[in-house]
Amino acid sequence: MSGYANKIGAHGLVWAGGWSESDARFSIASTKEAGYDVIEILLMNPASIDAAMTGRLLDEYGIEATASLGLALATDVSSEDPARVKAGQAKLSEAFGVARDFGATYVGGVLYGALTKYAAPASPRGRENSIASVRALCDEAADSGITLGLEIVNRYESNLLNTARQAVDYVREVDRPNLVIHLDTYHMNIEEPDNYSAVLTCGDLLGYVHVGESHRGYLGSGSVDFGGLFRGLAAIGYDGWITFESFSSKVVMPELSHTLAIWRDLWDDSMDLATQARAFIDAQLRGVDSIKHH
Ligand code: MN
Repeated sequence: MSGYANKIGAHGLVWAGGWSESDARFSIASTKEAGYDVIEILLMNPASIDAAMTGRLLDEYGIEATASLGLALATDVSSEDPARVKAGQAKLSEAFGVARDFGATYVGGVLYGALTKYAAPASPRGRENSIASVRALCDEAADSGITLGLEIVNRYESNLLNTARQAVDYVREVDRPNLVIHLDTYHMNIEEPDNYSAVLTCGDLLGYVHVGESHRGYLGSGSVDFGGLFRGLAAIGYDGWITFESFSSKVVMPELSHTLAIWRDLWDDSMDLATQARAFIDAQLRGVDSIKHH
């Protein structure tokens, strides 16, 4: 029997691009059927999510939820424009309310700036605005029992946090207990020296992991060093969420899929994709469990 405590999640865009009641039921039921514990629900448009319906379906299928979003330029808390910072704080606050109402205890993503290709590096004042915003949002989220995760993404999707090292410095400056680092192997594969050392750099600050392939498709069919990642997770005793993330132009949420440049069909059978990924993650975790105590 496996000896790991991690909850294993599936990203919502493995299943459906929207969140109508039929989308939600299909996504949650499929998450269960594919052997996962958790579904990560997209909150790009928090007002479009029916939290009561979502919570009811999660209970019906015995699936937990986490939530994620990325800000846009109009809601960029790392902007020098106070109006954009304020709009970003309002958007995040709205997202936390919806996540709390459907029972999530984790909200992650690019919460510290816009999810976009910037034309210039982050400015010191923009970084200060980002840190102050995230600190205030941590305090607000703590009232709802929510942990915030800062997802570290590649240079084409943020100009602020591209590496584990930058994230550790940033999180220490924010200095709040309900703030964690969220690593994603797709991004790490572009920016980190290697996956093992990036995990060790985060150490106890690591609170969420996205497992995704270098081309966002089937796990094991690209260039990501999953062995390095999972040995790192074993080395730090990571027992948090691990969520499978994959995108294809077969399942589209325009607000996110287009931002992430999902132009190709890397798969068309969500259930086949998700069951393969679930077995892949299980094999990796069972493998490294054997080295945890030696
Ligand atoms: Mn991710």
